[in-house]
Amino acid sequence: MNSKYLVHKKNVLKTIYEKGKISRKKLHEFLDIRFATITEIVKELIREGIIEEVEREKNKNGGRPHSLLSIIPDSRFFIGCELTPYNIISVILDFNGKIVEKVKLDINLNAEKEELQKNIFEVLNNLILKSKVEKNKIYGIGFVDPGIVDIEKGISLFSSIMPQWKEVPIKQYLEKKLSVETFVIGSSQAKVLSEKFFGKGKKCRNFIFVEYGDGISCGVISDDKVIHGVGGVAGEFGHIKIIGRDEICKCGKNGCLESIASIPGILNKIRIATGIMSDIDLILEKYKSDDLKIKKIIDEVLEIFTISISNLINLFNPEMIIFDRNFQIFKDFFDLIFEKIKSNMVYNYAVKFEISDFGEEIGAIGGACLSLSKFLKLDI
Ligand SMILES: [Zn+2]
Repeated sequence: MNSKYLVHKKNVLKTIYEKGKISRKKLHEFLDIRFATITEIVKELIREGIIEEVEREKNKNGGRPHSLLSIIPDSRFFIGCELTPYNIISVILDFNGKIVEKVKLDINLNAEKEELQKNIFEVLNNLILKSKVEKNKIYGIGFVDPGIVDIEKGISLFSSIMPQWKEVPIKQYLEKKLSVETFVIGSSQAKVLSEKFFGKGKKCRNFIFVEYGDGISCGVISDDKVIHGVGGVAGEFGHIKIIGRDEICKCGKNGCLESIASIPGILNKIRIATGIMSDIDLILEKYKSDDLKIKKIIDEVLEIFTISISNLINLFNPEMIIFDRNFQIFKDFFDLIFEKIKSNMVYNYAVKFEISDFGEEIGAIGGACLSLSKFLKLDI
């Protein structure tokens, strides 16, 4: 098989995936590949059980109707598995992003790496068994790491939050234990991939997903590609420094955005200033009722957070910012927040603000998207 043919095959499959349904004729016109080659590739993809003829489209010239080709949703499956400081979440998806099965296990973040590896293997093994998907239909596993990774070698290098999780050749380990090809990705990069494949960023070539909750982070899609960085941790937005602040951050440094504006960061500040130990919903209720001490703290946090988002926008010029679903807690203040962000944008354009529809599986789904992108040989 010559390499040109393989490139054509890759482009045909990718185009069928992106278009949903398409005829051989349109593939020929769209890709500018010889019709005979298209026919041959389509035949091969049908034989491999990846695509099928789904319906017929009228021929405008009155000739025979054209068959439309589509990917068979359950012809291949893709696994994603995220290790977080609290748990391991794994999912198996079909081509349409449908979650066929999910397995979650709570963990101890200080556990030894051997134990964590074993936990990850057990979660994945369990997932495969429960899903009842035939092993030969599983294309790959996308492992989502909480720290710095070597994407090429598939090694988890270091995590500031999980002290024992370092120098783990996770790709090699999982491939040996499960005989499924494994890929490794950082957490923010995985999350933005979920939005790109199956979320609000589907049609967008430039957007940012802002993770918000216990931590703050972001994943960037720029010109349709994920920005990974050297250690797979581009987008450590939560650890940008805020001048004049000395809050201690989980990363061991001081004055990080996350230590000020994450939910635990806010609650901590309220506790120190007022002695109130409460959840964020109640604090925001008090903010609405103009509790002066709380108002001062929240206003300051919002000021710092919105300026930081404006900086992100100024840096990347995205079409859209998708906020984590947890950001919904601020829904009563969205107008104010978005106005504040816009007021510090260097160039005032119609950037869109959205809230993600994904829940806790967003990282794991992103891992599965990585595996899907490898199958389609997408350059992401
Ligand atoms: Zn930090």
